Amino acid sequence: MAGTQVEHEHEHSHRHAHAPAGAMPDHPHDAQRPAADDGIESSGTIEVEHLHFVYPDGFEALRGIDLHIGAGEKAALVGPNGAGKSTLILHLNGILVPTHGQVRVGGEVVDRASVRRVRARVGLVFQDPDDQLFSPTVYEDVAFGPLHMGVPDERIHERVERALAAVGMTGSERRMPHRLSLGQRKRVAIATVLSMDPEILVLDEPTSGLDPRGRRELIRLLSGMSQTMIVSTHDMRLVAEVFPRTLVMDEGRLVGDGPTDSLLADSRLLEAHGLEAP
Ligand code: ADP
Repeated sequence: MAGTQVEHEHEHSHRHAHAPAGAMPDHPHDAQRPAADDGIESSGTIEVEHLHFVYPDGFEALRGIDLHIGAGEKAALVGPNGAGKSTLILHLNGILVPTHGQVRVGGEVVDRASVRRVRARVGLVFQDPDDQLFSPTVYEDVAFGPLHMGVPDERIHERVERALAAVGMTGSERRMPHRLSLGQRKRVAIATVLSMDPEILVLDEPTSGLDPRGRRELIRLLSGMSQTMIVSTHDMRLVAEVFPRTLVMDEGRLVGDGPTDSLLADSRLLEAHGLEAP
């Protein structure tokens, strides 16, 4: 999340409240998620239209992004540092608000009125797991999201166990998150959003800093997930192995979008945007 000031939220009023200047606050009176009246097909979609974003210092980080991601689609987001990847990602669950344009998740416009529902639907995993883990135990960190979403107490345990099993961390419930390895902390950070049953997963640099074994485990984990997925990364082998579709960003614009195989074979495109084939 280079260059993006993500502040720590000491009151922990909401896990995704780590928000830079200009961020959208939680909407406290919108606690109930409405009964789902749309099927899985539409609820996992992301539509970005004419998205422009200007930081408070006047820097235009996004300069007109148009993007549609279908339910269940897996797309890698690549591009040099400063391209705007993190800025785009922070719009997908309403942490940042467009200066112009619109983001829709499952057909619903992301705005103040919808932000709480959107955050239950879009699980955002930060690059640094320490931005996501703040409880004394793994169990409490993974239970935090569903507890604050109003999931009944008797369902919390099941949610936590399912999320930990999905990331291969069953048995770590009583452990202290800060004592775990980076790879384990990254997996628990993913569990903290899986416990909210999101239709969409958005991950920022999931393999950065991992050793080869941690990296393989994470690749296996991501490959096996059925959610719609957008993953920002510099790891081109991860891109080639997991993502059928690749989005290339540079200077606040989408400069490439297509099947990963053909984009990775386009040496001119890769070179023009500071990327390397795996
Ligand atoms: P990437 O994730 O592709 O490395 P970012 O989205 O982090 O790119 O940054 C895009 C551009 O926006 C960069 O030029 C960066 O310096 C700028 N930027 C990021 N965060 C802020 C901020 N809080 N204030 C001003 N400019 C920012």
